[in-house]
Amino acid sequence: MRQPQYFSGGGVFFDTHAHIADRRFEEAGVTVSDILGRAAEAGVKRILIPGDSEESSRKAVSTCLENNGELFCSVGIHPHEAKDYTEDTEKYLRDMLSSRKENRLCALGEIGLDYYYDLSPRDVQQTVFRKQLELAFEYDIPIILHERDATGDCLEILKEFHNRGQMRANPGVCHCCSMSPEAAREVVKIGFYIGFDGPLTFKNNKKGPVLAQETPMDRIVIETDSPYLTPEPNRGLTNEPAFVPFVAKKLAEIRNADIEQIAEITYHNGSTLYEI
Ligand SMILES: [Zn+2]
Repeated sequence: MRQPQYFSGGGVFFDTHAHIADRRFEEAGVTVSDILGRAAEAGVKRILIPGDSEESSRKAVSTCLENNGELFCSVGIHPHEAKDYTEDTEKYLRDMLSSRKENRLCALGEIGLDYYYDLSPRDVQQTVFRKQLELAFEYDIPIILHERDATGDCLEILKEFHNRGQMRANPGVCHCCSMSPEAAREVVKIGFYIGFDGPLTFKNNKKGPVLAQETPMDRIVIETDSPYLTPEPNRGLTNEPAFVPFVAKKLAEIRNADIEQIAEITYHNGSTLYEI
């Protein structure tokens, strides 16, 4: 099997989005402590484990609480799962949001719209997105936005909340942002951070570097979205937080900065975003 490459560049990193409790790791015989050990060696000090369904949210919380280190988590219902959102789901989210400190819970997400896969009907996705935006405002917590091929509707809903004063000054992050620079500018204007991942390192990615060049430095966070979106030079292998320095390395090239600087700024941004 191909061996992964590691690189830290001497930086201290915050992987702001890694599904380290994902079934794929378990199936490959990789334990959370393996993942955390390699992350620590690569200089990755903080990791946020996002939820995307009720089940994965529960796992994110328990993984966060059962392991040592600077782990944080989020709970939320992804647009793919919107069709299964019930009153019980909402009750679970409310329970978690009211006990966020003891659960190391820092965000509501992933929430949003995904018209690429359309795994839930679009009107249902919109309803569930709105419900969770209301929750985020009520419980005063940032969101992790998942948006794919739905920029128009997504912006419209976000602006609607923003314009009626139902959005915090720090609304959250546009995770693995695939918006056009114009659309990204609009979400940055209402306070969002922009998340960059492995695809930034892909040779055929023309849009990503433009976005990375144009986004204000104080709004950039880095993430792996492990186990998906593995950056070069490990593309094709299972992604894990230890690979987040490759995203920082690419950003450093694009922004003409050194990697320690990028590590420090994105670590600070991630901590500000999640208010930790
Ligand atoms: Zn994700």
